[in-house]
Amino acid sequence: MDGMVDLSAIREAARRLGPKSGVLRSPLIPAALSRKLGAEVLLKLESLQPTGAFKLRGATNAIASLSAEEARRGVVCCSTGNHGRAVAHAAGVRGIPATVCLSSLVPQVKVEAVTALSARVVRHGQSQDEAQVMADRLAAEEGLVQLPPFDHPQVIAGQGTIGLELLEDRPDLDTVLVPLSGGGLLAGIAVAVKSLKPSVRVIGISMERGAAMAASLAAGRPVEVEELPTLADSLGGGIGLANRHTFALCRDLVDEVILLDEAEIYQGMRWMLLQERRVVEGAAAVGVAALLTGKVRARGPTALIVSGENVDMTQLLTVAHGAPVKLGDITVENRT
Ligand SMILES: *Cc1c(COP(=O)(O)O)cnc(C)c1O
Repeated sequence: MDGMVDLSAIREAARRLGPKSGVLRSPLIPAALSRKLGAEVLLKLESLQPTGAFKLRGATNAIASLSAEEARRGVVCCSTGNHGRAVAHAAGVRGIPATVCLSSLVPQVKVEAVTALSARVVRHGQSQDEAQVMADRLAAEEGLVQLPPFDHPQVIAGQGTIGLELLEDRPDLDTVLVPLSGGGLLAGIAVAVKSLKPSVRVIGISMERGAAMAASLAAGRPVEVEELPTLADSLGGGIGLANRHTFALCRDLVDEVILLDEAEIYQGMRWMLLQERRVVEGAAAVGVAALLTGKVRARGPTALIVSGENVDMTQLLTVAHGAPVKLGDITVENRT
């Protein structure tokens, strides 16, 4: 089924991600934000996955789909951190070797998490694109099977199982807010929910600093943007100029894409910790941030994908104190 991500591929992924797969069927819980907004807001806690992020779904589905011969060769990926950790974990479950290429922008906490899973870690380059060059080289030289972080049918189908669960839990779902980077998460969820209930609104949220999918959608084709340090580090990186799947799926299925500045993401992280009492990374706080700014209005049951918890604790505690955070050459201040 190489070319296609449809509802049946996502249902097949859901069967593979059953109780013995190591993937959690994550809870959908009411948000404290509901009271402030006077609308029902729900949190889909993918942050509770054993690797701390939803990427375990796509990686587990893709690795479970490998032939015995591919599994023997082993897998390689490049990652902003969470995909690498997911691949390392899923490869461990199947008992196959994994190599993870990480750029210097990946926070130390994520590097250590991958290393702890006994995957081979290769640090290379200043950006996701440069880390990808290394992954390409290792695939060519060592015969490893590439497992891309988003532009891969089995990865997209795995992330799409979140969409099935959302509608199982809440058939009355009105809107889903999805953190958006390469678009595997959004594409999978959108295929699932729009196939089952076309009226569900799917909104993607990215940071202003390096929003590759938003820029590509505006241009009508995949384009490159400069990757910059951001509180939402898991949303960094391009979509690939040779993008095969996620660009077209996002173009056809997303209702709207919202961009947030760093101060808005900071407020989202603060709200998630202090009001929702959830430890999450910046990328996972963009849903509440979009609602808090009023850039998105909840008009019925609204689910936020809380995509991961792999935050640098020093950074999160700084945000909790309301102190400024330095990101490369910018400083993000508390506005409240
Ligand atoms: C990868 C990731 C995203 C974005 O997913 P894409 O499929 O690349 O759009 C969002 N949040 C977290 C925590 C991630 O790790």
